[in-house]
Order: sequence, then structure tokens, then C-alpha cells
Amino acid sequence: MAEKILVVEDELTLQETLAYNLKKQGYLVECANDGPSAIDKARQYQPDLIMLDIMLPGMDGFEVCKILRKDMLVPILMLTARDDEIDRVVGLEVGADDYLTKPFSMRELIARIKALLRRAKIMQNLSVDEAPGRKVLTFGNLVIDENRREVTLDSQPLNLKPKEYDLLLFLGQHRGQVLSRELILEKVWGWDYFGDSRTVDVHVRWLREKIESDPAKPQRIVTSRSAGYRFEG
Ligand code: CA
Repeated sequence: MAEKILVVEDELTLQETLAYNLKKQGYLVECANDGPSAIDKARQYQPDLIMLDIMLPGMDGFEVCKILRKDMLVPILMLTARDDEIDRVVGLEVGADDYLTKPFSMRELIARIKALLRRAKIMQNLSVDEAPGRKVLTFGNLVIDENRREVTLDSQPLNLKPKEYDLLLFLGQHRGQVLSRELILEKVWGWDYFGDSRTVDVHVRWLREKIESDPAKPQRIVTSRSAGYRFEG
């Protein structure tokens, strides 16, 4: 089935060029011209990937990205016209998966899109794979064995509380993605959980004490300022 891409771009010439080239590659394309309609369309259309321009009328791309990231795991590729470091950092801070600086070649764009979609598919298969057999996620000396609900570090079993395990598994299944506290809370604790995002922070702290070589300078569970957490593996 063709993958769906939502193109959020207010420069109509560029929007049309992008849509044309993406369709030529076999993707289904939907477009939005401003921030609020980008959010509406993302929720209605449930795209497999979103291309998001930063300078948009109504609400900028950073804001759109932050809002979408609260409840959607869809890969987001940010487009920026300003080639300075701050934009790049902020772009990743809000939970974007990748960015491209304008002007960019269609070839580069397509390559990035393919890479993001491929990665998203791997993540999806990891989390929904119900196939029998042993499911093991390996991150260097850290191994999560889903069948046994067991985690080992340097081959030594770790003593994790059930929610610590669930949280680590969720992070491990979404390696490299910025996950908001709200999303983690919803996916790991469930909708009906009576608590707030500090629950997530506390469990991250406990996990870091168990899996980081220096919990004060975490290398595995990285805090993405204002946006949430990212598991580096
Ligand atoms: Ca723009």
C-alpha cells in the first residue's frame, strides 16, 4: 500500500513541486498551507510522514511539531530556510526526526524520506510483532528479553520494577525518537492512569541509576530539553 505524506508548506510553488515529485515516487500526498490546518490534516489523514516547513502563517512549524508530538509518533521532517545552528538544534528539540535546509535537491529529499519511513517501519514491527519466538532487543551491553521480561547489563540480570521494565522496553522500541512525557505516560501507564508527567521523570531517574555508567551524565536515556526523552541505545 502506498505511504501517505503530508506536506506542510505555505510557498505554493514549492508545495506543488514537492507534491508532484512525491507523487511521481508513488506516495500519496496531502498538503496544508498553515499551522492549524497542518494539525487538523495530520489527525484526519494519519500520514506515514510529515514534511513540515518552519516559517508558516498562523503557527510556526516548531509549535506544530510540539503539538503533534504529544500524541503522534509519525516521523517529522522539518524544512528550514534559515541555516543557523539554533534553528537546527531547536528543530530537533521539539521532537522532529530530521531536517533539511532550503534549498535542497529532490534527490536528497527522497533519500531522507525513504530513510525515515524505513526506520519507522522497523520501529513499528518491533512494537507490534506478535510472532512466536524469542524477542530480544540488544543495545551494546544492555539486553532486553521480552519473553522473559528480563533485562541484563553486562550479562547480569537487573532488578527492575514492572513499570521500569515497561518504560525501558518502550524507549528501546523507539530508539532515537524524542518521546514526550505525555506520550510515554499514555503508552506505558495507560489512559486511565491517575498521575502526571513527573511519574515519568522519576522512573527515568531510577532507570538511569540502573543502566547508565554515570547517571549524572546519561548517555542512554537523554533528556531532550522541553520535549521529553530520547533513548540512544
Ligand atoms: Ca514558509
